[in-house]
Amino acid sequence: MSIEEYGKVTKDFDLVNNNTYKVHSICNYYIEVSDVIKLTKLINYLKKENTKYLIIGNGSNIILPSQYNGIVIKPLFYDLEIDGEYLTVGSSYMINKLAMESIEHNLTGLEWASGIPGTIGASIYGNAGAYKDEISNYIEEIEVLENDKVKILKKNDIFFSYRETSLQKKDLIILKAKLKLSKGNKEESLAIVKDRLERRTASQPLNYPSAGSVFRNPEGLFAGKLIEDLGLKGKQIGGAQISEKHANFIINIGNATGEDIVNLIKLIITEVKKEYNIDLFLEQKIIN
Ligand SMILES: Cc1cc2nc3c(=O)[nH]c(=O)nc-3n(C[C@H](O)[C@H](O)[C@H](O)COP(=O)(O)OP(=O)(O)OC[C@H]3O[C@@H](n4cnc5c(N)ncnc54)[C@H](O)[C@@H]3O)c2cc1C
Repeated sequence: MSIEEYGKVTKDFDLVNNNTYKVHSICNYYIEVSDVIKLTKLINYLKKENTKYLIIGNGSNIILPSQYNGIVIKPLFYDLEIDGEYLTVGSSYMINKLAMESIEHNLTGLEWASGIPGTIGASIYGNAGAYKDEISNYIEEIEVLENDKVKILKKNDIFFSYRETSLQKKDLIILKAKLKLSKGNKEESLAIVKDRLERRTASQPLNYPSAGSVFRNPEGLFAGKLIEDLGLKGKQIGGAQISEKHANFIINIGNATGEDIVNLIKLIITEVKKEYNIDLFLEQKIIN
C-alpha cells in the first residue's frame, strides 16, 4: 500500500473522535486529503486495487462498526467566499458554523442549521433540514468528483426529498457548494437561532453522544412518539440506550459499540412493525 503520497495517513486509526456517537472504530487507514487532484488519484488507486473506502465528514450521521476493513477518507476543503447573497463553500465546512458566519454578514436562510453538527458536504448529500426547512432550498449548484472528473451539478440536476437525494445513489464526492441566501437582519436571525437552540436543548439529549434522530418520521407521524408509546424509552443494549428524553435518539451511555446501536435499531424496527405494521426507515447510515 502506498497511499502516503495522497495525504496525511494513519494506520489502524481509531475513529472515536471522528463520530458523534463516540464509538471506537478501527479502520485500516485514515487519510486526510486537502487537494482535489490528489483526491482524484487516490480514488482511482483505491478503485483499481478494489479497496473499500468511506468518505467521512464530521461523523454525525453514521454508525461505525468496531472494525472497518477499509480506508476512511476525510476531505479537508474549508474555503469560504461570500459575495452579496451568494456563498461558495468547501464541503468540509461545518453547516452550523456557516449558519453563524452568514448571519454575521446579515444574510438569512440558514438559521435552522445552527444546531446541526455536520459538514455542508454531507448535509447536501443527505438533504439535512430542521424546522420545516432544508438545505436544498438554498443550493444553486455543487461541484463534485464523479468518475474521475470534476463536474458542476445544478440544483435541477439533483433530486431532493425528505433527508434523501439522488446524490446518495451515485458514486461521487461533493467538493464545493454555491448557496444563495437573502438579505436579512442580524438581530432577527440571532433571535431565531436562540429559539431553535433552546428548543433543541429542551427536547434532545444533547449531554450524551448521539447522531441526532435515528429514524425518519413516517408520513404524518413521529417516529419518536411511536417508539415512546411502545414503552421503549430507556431500553438498553450494551452501552447504547433509547433516550429517556427523546425516543428517536439512541445515546451512548458508556462504551457503546456500533453493534450495540445497530442491535437496538433492529429491536425498534421489529417492535414498531409488529405493533403498528409500520416500516421505519433510518435517517442515519450504518457503515459495514
Ligand atoms: C445532536 C445532533 C443533532 C442533529 N440534528 C439534525 C437535524 O436537525 N437535521 C438533520 O438533517 N440532521 C441532524 N443531525 C444529523 C447530522 O448532523 C446531519 O445529517 C449532517 O448533515 C451530517 O454531516 P456529517 O458531516 O457529520 O456527515 P457524516 O456522518 O460524516 O457522513 C454522512 C454521510 O455523508 C457522506 N459524506 C460525507 N461527506 C461527503 C462528501 N463531501 N461528499 C459525498 N458524501 C459525503 C458519508 O459518506 C456518509 O454516508 C444531527 C446530529 C446530531 C449529533
